[in-house]
Amino acid sequence: MRDVLAEMWFLSCVTLLADPLIDYLRQLEAQGQTHVNVDDDARLLLREFYKRALGSTTSARPAVVAAPAQATQSSQRRASQTKASSEAQAPAQPASVGLVISGATEEEKLASLKQQASIWAPAKALGGLRETMVFSAGNPRADIMLVGEAPGFDEERLLEPFSGKAGQKLDAILRAMGTSRKDVYISNIVKFRPQMPNQTTSNRKLTRKEINVWLPFIQAEVNIVLPKVIIALGGAAAQAMIGVESSVSELRGEFHRYKGVPVRVTYHPSYILNDEATPEKRMLWLDMLSVMDLLALP
Ligand code: URA
Repeated sequence: MRDVLAEMWFLSCVTLLADPLIDYLRQLEAQGQTHVNVDDDARLLLREFYKRALGSTTSARPAVVAAPAQATQSSQRRASQTKASSEAQAPAQPASVGLVISGATEEEKLASLKQQASIWAPAKALGGLRETMVFSAGNPRADIMLVGEAPGFDEERLLEPFSGKAGQKLDAILRAMGTSRKDVYISNIVKFRPQMPNQTTSNRKLTRKEINVWLPFIQAEVNIVLPKVIIALGGAAAQAMIGVESSVSELRGEFHRYKGVPVRVTYHPSYILNDEATPEKRMLWLDMLSVMDLLALP
């Protein structure tokens, strides 16, 4: 009985405080303040605000995933780590369609995958992609895997996914989440920059065929990294991972699943490059907060 009363008291505080708190924070922002210190109690309260806000933005659609498959993922990962030494002598494992992953560690398996990507015959047969491969970056044992569409001008130059302006925005997002590029795993569905006539710095959208021929790679990367959550950045990545043609606005706001791993769809960071407080920017932050919530990140 006391627990129920305490809960009711807490919820009524949340209800009463939400609007004045938002007003107060807006006032601080108008005065030029960009950060506030938050202690543990305040964090608890803010988390409750956030859950309520999320409830109201997603209430039209049922959540596809209620909880992460953390136990399964980490036990799989542990199993793969303990198997590592015996795998060193084991024959290469068949992956999906035509891929054979060899190696004992995640690094070695990704290197084997990368080598096959560089000569991936179905993509070569299709044509339409440039010559320089940009494979992936970050921690091969990361809890968070971010998936974009394809490398662009900057990525091709620096040989790293998300290294241009959108990448700098992604770095800022990761920083705000308390993590960094080296702690997460970042990849793209397609590993080569799409080609265009008279191409200089401009990039073109991927075709459905280009996405389809590269799907086995992202699947193999998920199998190797075993992330606890995948964040699909932008429409092409989202459609590829979820297998439907819907827009980001239709797919975001809930967890989907890819091979058993929760997938959060959100806007591509290039959507929020300017400093204006756009609705997409707010949605992107809500998506990131839900990922943090799922992983119980502070
Ligand atoms: N956009 C993407 O989707 N991926 C990159 O690596 C860079 C920009």
